[in-house]
Order: sequence, then C-alpha cells, then structure tokens
Amino acid sequence: MAGYTLLPNAVGARAGQVSSALTPGMRRERTGKQKVPGRVQPFALSQVRLRRGVFRDALEADRRYLHLLPSDRLLHTFRVNAGLPTSAEPLGGWEKPDCELRGHFTGGHYLSACALMYASTGDGDLKDKANGMVSELAKCQKALKDGYLSAFPEEFFDRLREGRRVWAPFYTYHKIMAGLLDMYVHCGNEEALAVAEAMAGWVWHWQESISDEHMQRILQTEFGGMNEVLGNLSAATGKQQYLHLAGRFEKNMFLDPLAERRDELKGIHANTHIPQVIGAARRYELTGEPRYHDIASFFLDTITTERAYCTGGTSNDEFWRTPPGKLATELGKLTEECCCGYNMLKLARHIFAWTADPRVMDYYERTLFNSRLGTQNLENGGMSYFLPLGSGYWKYFNSTYDSFWCCTGTGVEEFAKTADTIYFHDDHSIYVNLFIASEVSWPEKGLRLEQQTNFPEQEGTTLVVHADSPTELAVNIRIPYWATEGGTVKLNGSLLPAFSSPSSYLVLNRSWKEGDQVEVSLPMHLRIAPIPDDHTLQAAMYGPLVLAGRLGSEGLSQSMCYSEYDTAPPGDPIPVPALSTSAKDPVGWLRPVSGQPLTFQAVGQAQQITLIPLYKLFGERYAVYWKTTSASA
Ligand SMILES: [Zn+2]
Repeated sequence: MAGYTLLPNAVGARAGQVSSALTPGMRRERTGKQKVPGRVQPFALSQVRLRRGVFRDALEADRRYLHLLPSDRLLHTFRVNAGLPTSAEPLGGWEKPDCELRGHFTGGHYLSACALMYASTGDGDLKDKANGMVSELAKCQKALKDGYLSAFPEEFFDRLREGRRVWAPFYTYHKIMAGLLDMYVHCGNEEALAVAEAMAGWVWHWQESISDEHMQRILQTEFGGMNEVLGNLSAATGKQQYLHLAGRFEKNMFLDPLAERRDELKGIHANTHIPQVIGAARRYELTGEPRYHDIASFFLDTITTERAYCTGGTSNDEFWRTPPGKLATELGKLTEECCCGYNMLKLARHIFAWTADPRVMDYYERTLFNSRLGTQNLENGGMSYFLPLGSGYWKYFNSTYDSFWCCTGTGVEEFAKTADTIYFHDDHSIYVNLFIASEVSWPEKGLRLEQQTNFPEQEGTTLVVHADSPTELAVNIRIPYWATEGGTVKLNGSLLPAFSSPSSYLVLNRSWKEGDQVEVSLPMHLRIAPIPDDHTLQAAMYGPLVLAGRLGSEGLSQSMCYSEYDTAPPGDPIPVPALSTSAKDPVGWLRPVSGQPLTFQAVGQAQQITLIPLYKLFGERYAVYWKTTSASA
C-alpha cells in the first residue's frame, strides 16, 4: 500500500451545507455483533446510491422484474402446502408445483432481492410488497405448525433423513430463512425475524436425535448455506443456540482438506459447496476460530489462482472436474455457472473485510465486470444460468415465469446489491474499491463522497468531497492490477507527485473540505490472458475487460436465447478459426477501431472479426478464448 500525505489545506474552508443529510431510506443494518471485528467494514447498503451507468441500468432492470412478479403467484405453492386457499396460476420451471425445489426462489431469493433493492433504492412499494408476503408466509407457517415453513411437505425431510431420494430440501429451506432474515436486516421487519427463528426451532428439533455420523451422511445432499444463515441469525439475535445449530451443518469431508490447505475439489459440485465456505467465513467472524479463517482464505486462494478463467468465473457443467490449474479442457457451453460467481464474490467480500487486501478487490472487479455484468437481459430482467466460454456459443436467459433457476435467484439478489462493495471504511479512512458511478454518505463524519465516472468507457474516475466541516481522513483509492503502466492523480486540478503500484491502494491523507476533487487517470492497455495449462489458448483483455469476438447470429433462434428449458437450451457452436499471432507481439493482431470506444478489430487474419467487451455482447455468437498459431507459441 503506497501512502502519500498531503500538506494540510488552509483552515477556514467553507462550512458545508451538505451532506450528512441522510440518504432517503438510510438505516443501520441489523446484522448484530461479531467477535472478529475485521480490519475494514462495508457501508450499509442504504448509505450508497448508484448513479447513472451500467450498474444502475442492471439494477433498474432487476427492479422492474421484482415488481412484475405477482405476489399471489409467488405464494401459491406455499399456500397449497399449508392447506390455505389459493387460485393463482402456478409458476413454472423450478417453481412448478411438482418441482422438489419449489419455494427456493419465491419465498427465498425473491424476499432477499426485495430487501436488498429497498436498501439500495429506498423503493417503498417493493418493501410493502415483500412485507405483505412475509405476513402471508407467517400464516402458512402457523397452519403448518412447529415452525416448519416450506412450499413442499415435511415428508421431503423424512426422505432426507432416511437416505431416500430427494433433491435438496435444506438448500431451499436456507433460501427461505435467508430471505426472511434479509427482510429483518434491511427492512426492519420483526415478523420476518420471528418466522425465521421459528423455522430454526423446527430445524433444532429435526436434527436433535440425529448422530454426528448420520448427519454427515445427510450433508451429502446439497444444503445450501444453512451454516451461514444460522450464523447470521445468531448474530442478529445474540442467541448462541443458533451458532451451535450452524455447527451441525459442516460437511467435514469437504472442509477438512481446505483447513489443511489442500485442494481436493476435483469431482465436486461447485455451487453445492461455495455457500458452505461462506458459512465458514461467517463462523470465523463470529467465533474467532482459526480453522474457519484458514478454510475460507485457502478456498478463495485456490479458486482464484487455480480454477478461475480470465473472466474470474469458475466451474464447468456445475462442477470442478479437473486437478488445480487444468482449465484447457473446460471451455464449453456450460462453462462458469453464474451462481458460483455470485457466491464467490460474497466470500471475497468477507475476506476483504479481514485483510483490506487489494488483490481481493482485483479479483472482485475482474469477476464483476466480466462474469457477472452482462449475464442479465436488460429488456426483461432475465438471468443467465451459464456464461459459455467455449467458442461459437451464445448467451441465453431465463424466461419470465417459467425458469427460476438457482442463478435466476442469485441474479435477482446480485443486481440489487452491486453498490455494497464499492466503498469500505475503518475509523479513519475510506476505501474506494470499484470505479462505479455512485455516492456514499457517512453521517458520522459529516461526509458524502461522490464518484463521477463512466468507467470502464472512461479510463479513470473523479471523486468529489462534500463535507460539513474540514475532516481528517485517509482516502484509499485502489490502483488495479491492470494499471501496469502507471496513471496520474490530481487534487483540485493540480497533478500530485505520487502514484502507486498495481494491486495497491494509493492513500491520500488530508483534511478534506467541501468541493475537494480527486481525479484519477487509469490508462488501460491490451494484453493476453492465456489458459494456464495451454498457452496457445488465449483471450484478449483491455484493462479490466475481457474482449469477445463478435461471430454473428447464424442459426440462433429466439428460443435458444430466451430459454424455457430447465437448463441450457439445445444448439451447437459454429466453428471458429484459429488466430495467427506473433510471440513477440502477442496483442499485435488487435487494433482499436477509431471513434468506437472499447472496440477492436482483428488484423492479419483470414476472417474479419470485431471484438467488444464480453459484458456488452448480446444476441449473437462469440469467442473469448482463441486457438492461436505462432512461431514460438
Ligand atoms: Zn446456479
């Protein structure tokens, strides 16, 4: 981390009339206390607001989708299961009345997304709609007795206990508990907390007489983040018994090797397990037990260094199918499942809070801009299941009422909460982690910080300070890994004789006053990102952005892009030519197209190809990784 202390500015700066005014809807998150306080903390989501830009477009598309889904249809299977009257038209896909995961989206992810969206935007109508759903779910719980709440019968849990076939009852139970808890944390809904506690009470009785060995067998079936939500419930209520209960949802055969820093992930279903690591991270924060710290930090390390593509995403066909560092065989139609990316970013956020390590934010930015942004259909708020990295494939999105994949669920949450990681802070400093047009309010400091940028179309950002009175503070600005050829920083128009190296924070210490401006220029450059185990397979990147070659829409039908299928729609890739490249100048085959930002042309190739950022590419086939031929490749 590079530091630079500025000379104190003149005292007597104009007292700000600004700023500490609360953002509408701003409130403390009711997350409770943790034992390990963390080196830095995020701001409450309600303290940050997105401004015009790609992430606010994504948030607004998401918001429209959340408004569109009718409460009665969302509640239908819960009411059926509770024996309460309902005449709503059932939803389809994974929310069909006979699907064993029913309720995961409608009573779970949906409530989480509404709570996050309220915190992000202050949208009171959405909060009212979600509050109404909580009350209806409370009625279902009352009718079902003993605290049980689900859209499927308790008999599913009998099958689980007895080792009979069933999909993933605790996975769904986790989503519902998390949705209710989010309604408490972000919207202050006490009824939601009471329903979640009653649900936990039912779990307590269900598992009480089950031996440890039997429980480990039960945990072979996907159980989502039960350990995480019970840890969160313990923190929110101060009740230790939930933390004890969380400890019953620890799958030792998965966690033990990680605690010993061994990557034994080959053959493991990715998104069954990432939430368990988030739960371990949360347990470290709540107990201080080093085992959980080691599990989470090693896991993040091995995924990001050994199992991530250039996009930051991980998994193929939902699994890690190879030894560490082996990715060349994994590029296909089902490369990188979206909910894996979402959950990895959740985990990274925990670890960043412990470490303030800029490399964690390098990974976060890479994944957010390449793997997450652009996996949402801005026209109707639909989400992708997979982001194909095999050449010649295309992106596809869920249908409005008939899909409800796992990734639809995580998708509606994530585009409601992009703002939660842009800024972190400690008592004396603020961290600007991501270059996203936004503003953060910090009433304790009488401070508001605006970030004005059109990043990544703009290669840098401008911070504008609004302060009630001059305020001593370190502003830590992330200098990304890709800023390999430097950059500049100006304070109130004057160039500062300081910068910082890639993967660090540039620290500006100063008594900040109303109207102070910091302009950061971060020039982007082209570079190659090869697959680690086959350097002839290369992707091109420009600054933080993965570039994708536009291959046209030959043979693509509407139903291949807007899928009502349970998973990926049918269809084959088109053949993609190899590129002729030079080992001496590996990006020499790319030229910027003048007048078109972030657009490049392949030169010296058999075929005309235009490349644009992967996140901007929709409705056509593409290639990210190219087979290359070169004299010394
Ligand atoms: Zn998924």
